[in-house]
Amino acid sequence: MAIIINRKKKFIVATLLISLLIMYGFNAQAQIRVFACEPEWGALATELAGDRVNIFIATTAQQDPHHIEARPSLIAKMRRADIVVCTGAELEVGWLPLLLRTSGNKKVQVSQPGYFSATNFIETIEKPERLDRSLGDVHAAGNPHAHLDPYRLLIIAEALKNRFIKIDPQAASHYQQHFDDFKQRWQTAVEQWEKQASALKNTQAIVFHRNWAYLFKWLGIQRVAELEPIPGLPPSAKHLTKLKKQFADTSPDFIVYGPHQRAKPANWLSDQINSPVIELPFTVGGNKHANNLFTLYDSTIELLLSKLK
Ligand SMILES: [Zn+2]
Repeated sequence: MAIIINRKKKFIVATLLISLLIMYGFNAQAQIRVFACEPEWGALATELAGDRVNIFIATTAQQDPHHIEARPSLIAKMRRADIVVCTGAELEVGWLPLLLRTSGNKKVQVSQPGYFSATNFIETIEKPERLDRSLGDVHAAGNPHAHLDPYRLLIIAEALKNRFIKIDPQAASHYQQHFDDFKQRWQTAVEQWEKQASALKNTQAIVFHRNWAYLFKWLGIQRVAELEPIPGLPPSAKHLTKLKKQFADTSPDFIVYGPHQRAKPANWLSDQINSPVIELPFTVGGNKHANNLFTLYDSTIELLLSKLK
């Protein structure tokens, strides 16, 4: 009798172990590999997919996403990706096409379900009326830096959720649940941010680059000048001197730059015209508070308010 129970027990234990292994194996296999071009899309994929995905983020907040080197390590990651999630609108034109080509990964090529370009799902702003190289690094598809508009971000989130369902239909309800939960939390947060930021309406800011356009449009902040003489060109002494003269009597409320931009020109001008300078996080990881999309917005608004006279 004792022997039979023991055998039964052994059998049960073995069966359990095998099913655990199979389950684990399934899960490990089922994990979708996401290649995110920028930290904001890595953060969004985490919100929408949780542990169903394995996320690789190609750049950090300290790097300028216009100018990234197509390193072999990035090519290797892209080769294994199930989906590539990027900004689009020509932001990554200097490096993404090269990565796609050299990776040889058919799943993630443009027009495949494994290629997700965020700005394809929204209306961009600041589309140039004419394309003229003398006007600088102007993006023909409009301003690509759209992740700091919470309404556009939600539209992109829904599109990405649908895309995850398309490439991983087995887990459809998982993605839908994550999206519904995210949407609810996001909409509540947007209401709070708008209340909090109402004092920023009609303030004026000088920016390093046009990467705050969506944020400013949302909050009613006016961009009065740029530290770059033309988009993509570094601030020059001549241009900074011109700004110093232009704002000698009317100091704007802020001078804004990001963690991937140089502080020096902003600080110099701040001393000259007496406008406070602020380093905003710009994306997830841009400062120690901005460790997800919610705290990115929290930190951005808090920093702006903290310098308001
Ligand atoms: Zn740009």
